[in-house]
Amino acid sequence: MKISFKTGITIIVLIAFSFSSCMVDSRSESEFFAMDTVMTITAYGDNSESSVKSAVEEINRLDTLFSVQNQNSEIYKLNINKYVHGSKETLELFNCAQMVNTMTNGAFDVTIEPLIREWGFYTGLEKQVPTQKKIETVLDSVGAEHIKIDKETIVLDKDTSVDFGGIAKGYASKRAAQIIKENGTSSALLSLGGNVRAVGKKPDGSEWSIAIANPDDNSKQAGVLNVIDTAVVTSGGYQRCFKYNGKNYHHIIDPHTGYPADSGLKSVSVVSQDDCLADALSTALFVMGLDNSAVLYTENSTLFGAVFITDENEIYVTDNLEKSFFSDYDFKVIKK
Ligand code: ADP
Ligand code: MG
Repeated sequence: MKISFKTGITIIVLIAFSFSSCMVDSRSESEFFAMDTVMTITAYGDNSESSVKSAVEEINRLDTLFSVQNQNSEIYKLNINKYVHGSKETLELFNCAQMVNTMTNGAFDVTIEPLIREWGFYTGLEKQVPTQKKIETVLDSVGAEHIKIDKETIVLDKDTSVDFGGIAKGYASKRAAQIIKENGTSSALLSLGGNVRAVGKKPDGSEWSIAIANPDDNSKQAGVLNVIDTAVVTSGGYQRCFKYNGKNYHHIIDPHTGYPADSGLKSVSVVSQDDCLADALSTALFVMGLDNSAVLYTENSTLFGAVFITDENEIYVTDNLEKSFFSDYDFKVIKK
């Protein structure tokens, strides 16, 4: 049976508050806006209040460091000057981005910045379909070969600029989870606009249930993933998009064509212990499509798992998630 979807996608986080009050002495929550999206952090038990506060501060600090539009950010300065003495955080981010770039044959590529700009996906720009000629010109400056890193100095080619929108939230959730744990809080859930990070187990000791949304109807779910202490990141062509001449254009760009990815997928959710990898891969697998993603999975099944929803509303789950994925719909399993 196939599922019938409408429009939109989100991750619904289901928290069953079934624990008794004697098990948990406190619960703290903060909803805030950072990295262009609404974020929620909920922590339970020891030091939950200070954990949430410190995690929010760290995410705001990283937002200022990585933002492509904030004139004080390191990335903004790099894009203007074409070189920067990178902070530890920026160098780590570049490392992960380059690793995923190699792993995905360029499907994930932070040098797509001029393309995102041409398509008008930055705040304050008008969304538009660029001419084919413009796209071809811009593509000349896209590609990992246009970035040189020598110790701590990052240098970009003349017309190259970088955008970490496909990975920064992953880095932020990794740091926030670390801070929460170091602060002595062992149970928390972070929801950073499509990036979910479970810290430890639920306060009652059971697994967190993370709903994978129906890409066509935010209020419904396609299935649920039961997880402990891991990142679950979803990418889809649904949130930042516009219609032109009856066709839909979204913000995940295929770096090989310069156009929004059209690989036959509505959404990809990636599960990994490594938040940065989960974030970058969710974007990359969306670009690569189901078949190429399945090949990548067979070679890297210890690093990540994934749930795919195709344009035909079929659900595919990698076999390392088979026992943690639950759905009212039929789904197919991708074997190692
Ligand atoms: P979301 O913005 O919903 O979190 P993603 O994690 O998939 O979704 O990130 C999309 C963002 O990543 C875009 O807004 C853009 O900044 C950037 N991006 C788009 N296409 C690519 C790509 N092929 N490689 C790397 N980054 C990309
Ligand atoms: Mg991503």
